[in-house]
Amino acid sequence: MKVRFWGVRGSIPCPGPETVKYGGNTACIELILDNGLNFIIDAGSGIRELGNYILKKGEIQKNNIKIFLTHTHWDHIMGFPFFAPMYISDARIKIFGPCASEKDSLEGIVEGQWTYNYFPVLHKDLAAKVEYIELKEGEYDIGNGLILKTKFLLHPITCLGYRFEYHSSSFCTVYDTEPFQKKEELVDFIKGADLLVHDAQYTEYEYKNSKAGWGHSYMEYAIEVAEMGKVKRLAFFHHDPERTDSQLDALSKKYISPSVTCFFAREKEVIPLS
Ligand SMILES: [Zn+2]
Ligand SMILES: [Zn+2]
Repeated sequence: MKVRFWGVRGSIPCPGPETVKYGGNTACIELILDNGLNFIIDAGSGIRELGNYILKKGEIQKNNIKIFLTHTHWDHIMGFPFFAPMYISDARIKIFGPCASEKDSLEGIVEGQWTYNYFPVLHKDLAAKVEYIELKEGEYDIGNGLILKTKFLLHPITCLGYRFEYHSSSFCTVYDTEPFQKKEELVDFIKGADLLVHDAQYTEYEYKNSKAGWGHSYMEYAIEVAEMGKVKRLAFFHHDPERTDSQLDALSKKYISPSVTCFFAREKEVIPLS
């Protein structure tokens, strides 16, 4: 199993000369199993390039694309209208995710982007066959030996943390969340993971001085829970769009742990898990 980052930013894309190294696209992660099957976590602006890559390579099952949304905030779904497989007639796309409100459906929320006020194509005119599956907290058998465990996070709308287990490897995503007061709750969920991708939008100083309640975590907290959970690698994720490459390089030197390999996620970086 391996992971490839296609978008690592929070909130809004921030391309430009100061973000070239870590990348300016919003959240999108590809999970690749040993047998070549691919799964996608989040459809931020990074999914545009992933969609092109899928079609170009032709090796991924464009008939069977599975996308797991952590939640429906815009930075996590904004890439959908530009995800090329949506416009391919034999593509079968399953979109999994939580639904934030009882009034709406996951389909209704995502579909809202394909209306003429926002985009020139309507959802009903998409060539692909798209199916929506709502997730709650629990455990799901995804098939092909992949098990998914989910956990509600602490965010202004319903947001899920994911734990993918495949043979003896495990991969967790915990972002768009405030720090858990009872750390043990989160530690249980991430325990022993080969890779934890954790929200690290802020430093502890920034969080405690002005960002508490904004729905995100800080680097010191990510390290603490990763150490408690004895995870092998910790990727800081959902970088603040204001953070430049040189600032992230400086933070990389500061935020280290004696027991966990810590790094700031970078676009296109591939992390093998085993
Ligand atoms: Zn976000
Ligand atoms: Zn969010």
